[in-house]
Formats: sequence, structure tokens, C-alpha cells
Amino acid sequence: MRRIAAEFARNIGRLLYPQTCLICDAGAGDSAGVRHGLCNGCKVAVTTDPFPACPRCAHTVGPHTDTTHGCTECRGTALGFDQAFRLGPYDEPLRTAILRTKSLAGEGLADLLGRTFAECRGDAIRAAGIDLVAPVPLHWWRKWTRGYNQSEAVARELAAGLGLAFAPRLLRRVRWTPQQVQPTREARRENVKGAFRTTRRARVIGRTVLLVDDVMTTGSTLGEAARTVRAAGADRVVVAVLARK
Ligand SMILES: [Zn+2]
Ligand SMILES: [Zn+2]
Repeated sequence: MRRIAAEFARNIGRLLYPQTCLICDAGAGDSAGVRHGLCNGCKVAVTTDPFPACPRCAHTVGPHTDTTHGCTECRGTALGFDQAFRLGPYDEPLRTAILRTKSLAGEGLADLLGRTFAECRGDAIRAAGIDLVAPVPLHWWRKWTRGYNQSEAVARELAAGLGLAFAPRLLRRVRWTPQQVQPTREARRENVKGAFRTTRRARVIGRTVLLVDDVMTTGSTLGEAARTVRAAGADRVVVAVLARK
């Protein structure tokens, strides 16, 4: 029902604003060059990461930083995953784009961001030897109130763009976790401990799994999801996020 409502809202939107940028609302008459749902400015901004990123945790790093063993944020810490990709830092207009995906009518934009991710980072992600792609699940209540899981939409389009297997139900969120306000890494890890479970049909033994989420803040949630997948037998876990805070 909610999906139908979302689809309806999207189609109405297309009818009313057939060439409006899904991020900044620039219209066809604004000489903004709106194509496929994005104006020129937004397209360039979300497809160009202005900074180098740590290959281990996707944090922004300085131009000459040695990231062989990670960056100053992650070096020496057990992240739970082996490698991380991002579309960009959590700055405008990606920030607005992600916030907009969190509404019922945002699924079209989430799909678009997933496709864009595949176009921009496809070669690098493929080189990581991914076997299957899975989203970080929302708690069922949050998914129900939002109408869909934006990370699942991004993951689905990313997998399709890369021609990789998509496993939307690889993980289940079995525990509602309060907002991550804990001050230390240990406390945050404790907060999300046991939040996920792999489904019985999960077939990940010896495989490399790409876990997809919209935003990575501290990395604790993705770390716990990655540990859960690894405990089910995955060989490597790589993560991909639209934005890194
Ligand atoms: Zn725009
Ligand atoms: Zn790092």
C-alpha cells in the first residue's frame, strides 16, 4: 500500500514537474540543464568527490596522506569491514539528496543515487571482487513508517548497475538501536551489538559481500553488520555508502 502510494506520489511529481531536479528543484525553465532527474550543477557535484578518501574507512584524508594501513581516524582500530567506498563526503548537495530519500516519495531519488554510484565508482568496486550486494536493513518499524528502506533502493540499483547478485534479505535487524550518542567507540559498538542476524538462507561462506548504507557516521552500525556477515562465513566484507560524515 505504501509502495503504491510512493509510486503514485512519484508519478504525480513527474507529471507536474517533468524536468525538475530531484535534489534542488531547479526546473527546465531555469537553464539548469535538467536531465534524468538532476540539474547540471547537482549532477557534477554528486558525481565528483572533491577529496581523496581513506580506502579503509572512506573518511576524507589530506592529498598526501599515506593510507596504506588506513587514515588517522581508523588506523589500528578493528572496523569490522575490510574496505570502504563512498560517493562523496556528507556535504551539499549530497546531504540534501540523502535527506530527501528519507520521505515516502524519495525512492526515485534513492534509485537514481544508486545508479549514479554504479556509474561513478563501478570500476573500483568491481575490482574489490564482490560476489553479492546487500543493504543494511532498517528495523521493521522504521521501514514501515518510512514506506521503504532507502539503503535497499541504493543497493538494488548499485547491484544492477554492476551486474552483481543482489541479496536484499541477507541481514535482518532484530533489535531497535537507540540513536548513536555514545561518546566512545567501545560504547557505540556495545550499543549495536546483536542488532543484526543473517537469514537462514544466507549463502556467504567464502564470499566477498558488499554492504550498502546511505550514510556512515561512526562506522559502528556498518561494523556490526559486517561482523554478522563474517560470522556467517563471509571471507571479506566491503562497504559502500553514499556519504561519509
Ligand atoms: Zn539540482
Ligand atoms: Zn580510514
